[in-house]
Amino acid sequence: MRREYGNEQVYFVGGGLASLAGAVYLVRDCGFPGRNIHILEEMKILGGSNDGAGDAEHGYVIRGGRMLNDETYENLWELLGTIPSVDQPGLSLREEITQFDNANPTRSRARLIDSTGEIQDVSSMGFDMADRLAMGKLLITPEPALGVTRINEWFAPHFFTTNFWYMWATTFAFQPWHSAVEFKRYMLRFMHEFPRIQTLEGVTRTPYNQYDSIIVPLHQYLEPLGVDFTLKCTVTDLEFKDGDGITVTAMNVVRDGTEDTIRIHEGDRVIITNGSMTEGSSLGSMTSAPGLNRSKGSSWKLWETSLRRSRGWGTRPPSPIMWMNPNGNPSR
Ligand SMILES: Cc1cc2nc3c(=O)[nH]c(=O)nc-3n(C[C@H](O)[C@H](O)[C@H](O)COP(=O)(O)OP(=O)(O)OC[C@H]3O[C@@H](n4cnc5c(N)ncnc54)[C@H](O)[C@@H]3O)c2cc1C
Repeated sequence: MRREYGNEQVYFVGGGLASLAGAVYLVRDCGFPGRNIHILEEMKILGGSNDGAGDAEHGYVIRGGRMLNDETYENLWELLGTIPSVDQPGLSLREEITQFDNANPTRSRARLIDSTGEIQDVSSMGFDMADRLAMGKLLITPEPALGVTRINEWFAPHFFTTNFWYMWATTFAFQPWHSAVEFKRYMLRFMHEFPRIQTLEGVTRTPYNQYDSIIVPLHQYLEPLGVDFTLKCTVTDLEFKDGDGITVTAMNVVRDGTEDTIRIHEGDRVIITNGSMTEGSSLGSMTSAPGLNRSKGSSWKLWETSLRRSRGWGTRPPSPIMWMNPNGNPSR
């Protein structure tokens, strides 16, 4: 039996993929009225890290590019399986992307080159026994035990000279100082890529950039359902019921430069997917390097201002678990 929602409203802070997916699930799976869903986005474009904008004269900006993968991304594929393609009526986005990828498979023939441009032989991963042991141990070590360990605290220097490291790090954008937990998660999630990491055949590509191939169709699906999109609208602060830090009673926003307050009534919901990989990024050009942006982005500012008004946010003490990494150094 469908639930009646009356005049309940749902507000999503941010217009990235998470909010767009949330709006689809609410309408599609919960029968929630689209006209009562509000997406507030500070940029002038939807998509968050999946943005894509520009023109031939001034150039294009696409801050993120996802390496889609057939065997993983279960949720995304399920979502796109019910969104119609814009270019090919009758096909879902999932079908459109698969069709394109089958017709244009990825197959790198020069996965690694040396400094002179010579194609390298990558038929061996290049591991020594210590690398193999460290890798095996990483995979069976529970996350709490890894704590804040970095990849280069777990593996010996030799590991970072292997073909495997160069291919894995450049596929998934790892640096040696990144989190060992994150590295382990990727190892487990993409284990099936091992035999084809040298060709990148596992990478599924979309017909256009992911803004035009995913975000635009999601927008075009949601808009006729009445979903309300407000661009150039930054949520700057949340007010909570008696300072409980959970029940939002009002959102302070700056909409197109003007301050405003959105009252949140009993039964309404505010959904915030805090954090953004691309906010705070700065852009370079073909002739100038991007400047270092030290200012905080709006999602972190919102976190900080809301934190001041709430009790119990972000106060969990660090994990006390001690663990020895394969090099014998304790890591927390
Ligand atoms: C270069 C790159 C490569 C990537 N590769 C992959 C990959 O291969 N596979 C993969 O799965 N993922 C990948 N990702 C990650 C993936 O893109 C993100 O996890 C995903 O897009 C996050 O979606 P989101 O909606 O949670 O956040 P975002 O896309 O960051 O959207 C958040 C939105 O909220 C807005 N916002 C924030 N604060 C406020 C506020 N206070 N008021 C109003 N609006 C606000 C922001 O402007 C932004 O538009 C990659 C990301 C990048 C940058």
